[in-house]
Amino acid sequence: MNQPVLECKNICFSYHNLNGETRALTDISFCVNKGEFLAIVGPSGCGKSTLLSIIAGLLEPESGEIILNEKEKVRIGYMLQQDHLLEWRTIWKNILLGPEITHSLSEEKKELALKLLSDYGLLKFKDKKPAELSGGMKQRAALIRTMVMEPGLLLLDEPFSALDYQTRLMVSADIGNIIRASGISAILITHDLSEALSLADRILVLSRRPATIKNNIPVHLTIPENTPLAARSAPEFGDLFNLLWKEISDEYAKEDG
Ligand code: ADP
Ligand code: MG
Repeated sequence: MNQPVLECKNICFSYHNLNGETRALTDISFCVNKGEFLAIVGPSGCGKSTLLSIIAGLLEPESGEIILNEKEKVRIGYMLQQDHLLEWRTIWKNILLGPEITHSLSEEKKELALKLLSDYGLLKFKDKKPAELSGGMKQRAALIRTMVMEPGLLLLDEPFSALDYQTRLMVSADIGNIIRASGISAILITHDLSEALSLADRILVLSRRPATIKNNIPVHLTIPENTPLAARSAPEFGDLFNLLWKEISDEYAKEDG
């Protein structure tokens, strides 16, 4: 059997500060298989971003283990809600920042960057500054900057939430297609249940803080082609949406009670 790209085993985490301890994650275990697109949903403040930071190695888990498939030499790419493009650099210079910092800037990297710019329709904007691009274009540029590092696992923390609704629909479908075509594995955190359903192969539902895994829902849709837009009109979409909505609203109800 194929070894998963990522295994999270019994992850626990608490924040400690002057006011005491905030328990964020309790016993989180799950896998991501190669090429799988996993979405994670859960009430706001439950610990989703904390979990991604632990997977990315930015936070140390209190207990538990993060296991990355060694054979695949999984490199992690991390994309956040804000595009974090550097305003004083051109799009081209922004995209090459990672290779520059890691001393891996080669002719091949530049060719890859040019190909990605062309594939994602941004070649014409290569020498522009971020301020000259629309929100959707900036988010695409941020994705290119991540993809140029050739990650095996992409972590996406609410990457579309700064966009207006229509741009968000377009950019999320766009980026979903790009990720599928590249065959890399991805974990998407989102509070948009339709977005999770339209993009993911499987959805983990987290409980309110401290987060535990409440449900693991495979998304099997009857659709002619596997695209985020087609997914939205799948016959199963409505029932799955209602199931997710119920799971999440149950968690919010607990908070009130
Ligand atoms: P989510 O991404 O699901 O909205 P987070 O992972 O950002 O939630 O945060 C989980 C909980 O941990 C929240 O209650 C938040 O207030 C708390 N928290 C986040 N970062 C810190 C920190 N640096 N210090 C203390 N508490 C934090
Ligand atoms: Mg968050």
